[in-house]
Amino acid sequence: MGASLEGISDAQVLALLVVAPCVVISFLKGKPWTGVVGLFIGIAAVIGAIRLAKPTSWWARRNYGEAKLLQAAHRFPSEAAAVLKTCPACAQTVNAKAGICRFCGHYFA
Ligand SMILES: [Zn+2]
Repeated sequence: MGASLEGISDAQVLALLVVAPCVVISFLKGKPWTGVVGLFIGIAAVIGAIRLAKPTSWWARRNYGEAKLLQAAHRFPSEAAAVLKTCPACAQTVNAKAGICRFCGHYFA
C-alpha cells in the first residue's frame, strides 16, 4: 500500500476508509462517546461499530430482529423498557411493539 495520494499518508487514507465509517456507525448505534473517542483513537470506533447497538438506536430499529433486539436489551438494561414488555399472561419478555405474545398467543390491548 505504498501508493498514496500526494501529501496524504497511508495512515490518513486508512483513517478515512476504515475509521470514519466506523465513527458514523458508532453514532448510529447510539454510542456517541465511542464515536468521539474513536475520532482520536481509531480502534475504539472500530470496536464500537462491531459491537451491539443500543436497543433504542436508529441502527437497532432498522436492522435488528427479535433475537438481536433481545440481546441488545440484555446488554443495555437501562434502555430495555423502551423496546421490551412483559406478557401479563405468561410473564415472557416480548418486543414492545408486539400485538400478540409469541409464547402464549396473548393479545395485547
Ligand atoms: Zn405470553
